Amino acid sequence: MQYNFKEFFETHHWSMVIDAVLLILVLAVIICFFVYKRNVRALFLLLLGGVLDVIVNVLAEILGHSALEIARYVTHFIVVFDIVAACVVYQNDLKNIFQKVSSARSLELHNSNEELRASTMEILTACQDMAKQDVGAIIIIDSLGDIHDNILDTGTRLDAVLSAPLLESIFNTKAPLHDGAVIVRGNRIIAAGCFLTLTQRNVNKEMGTRHRAAIGITEETDVLSIVVSEETGIISVVKHGEIKRYMTMDKLNDEIEIAYGISPSIIATRDTQTKKKHKNNRFL
Ligand code: ATP
Ligand code: MG
Repeated sequence: MQYNFKEFFETHHWSMVIDAVLLILVLAVIICFFVYKRNVRALFLLLLGGVLDVIVNVLAEILGHSALEIARYVTHFIVVFDIVAACVVYQNDLKNIFQKVSSARSLELHNSNEELRASTMEILTACQDMAKQDVGAIIIIDSLGDIHDNILDTGTRLDAVLSAPLLESIFNTKAPLHDGAVIVRGNRIIAAGCFLTLTQRNVNKEMGTRHRAAIGITEETDVLSIVVSEETGIISVVKHGEIKRYMTMDKLNDEIEIAYGISPSIIATRDTQTKKKHKNNRFL
């Protein structure tokens, strides 16, 4: 039997297909968002409102137009309430999505691996010195240029070559820029004294605003936060909201190299990928 598309579109109005595709896309985006936020319970509550609304509307159609008027009104209200509540609860995430869309750019770091290795050493030296002297610090390594200009503007733009003495003088408690975070891209310090959004999650009570700020920025962006505690001298790193404390110099070195994309393992995978690409290209 041959399928007649023309007939299909005449009998089933094609706008219905567009409606269905749109609905599936919206549902898929909503489900992905809540699964990514690991908050499936909120998703169920949201869907429950929607399902209730559909059931009441279908019943109302079956029973006649004037039936279930109050129920329809109430379920519509629940859906609107659900949407407003989700927007309020997830306002930070929505803000980030819009910020990312408005600054869709990918950063090309023009640094050689040697330059990035030298910067890694400078950061290590600065962290070690500051930890010994109980000087607090937050250093954010933003290799992808994920940090929005709004955050850079909360501090002072520098664009200076990264060095241990410079980092140490920025975080010196007597210096004007010591409060807040330093943002690093490649071998340059882009800004200092930046104010970051604190995480809203329940974290260890020992950790104050510095650690909360370091965790908060990694929940919104793909960066590495390095924190030196003023109180304890403990060095921690944070990625994707997960904090690792008690960093040794070796571990810190590995984390920074991974953030810079110069860790030996990353280079090895990159090399095999390029080799494969070249191999495939030869047969094209
Ligand atoms: P520490 O272990 O160093 O004491 P902590 O996690 O206990 O750190 P606080 O003692 O509250 O945190 O540290 C306060 C310092 O943290 C401030 O002086 C400031 O430099 C920094 N800080 C606080 N809030 C922010 C923020 N939102 N963004 C960037 N830096 C911040
Ligand atoms: Mg403190």
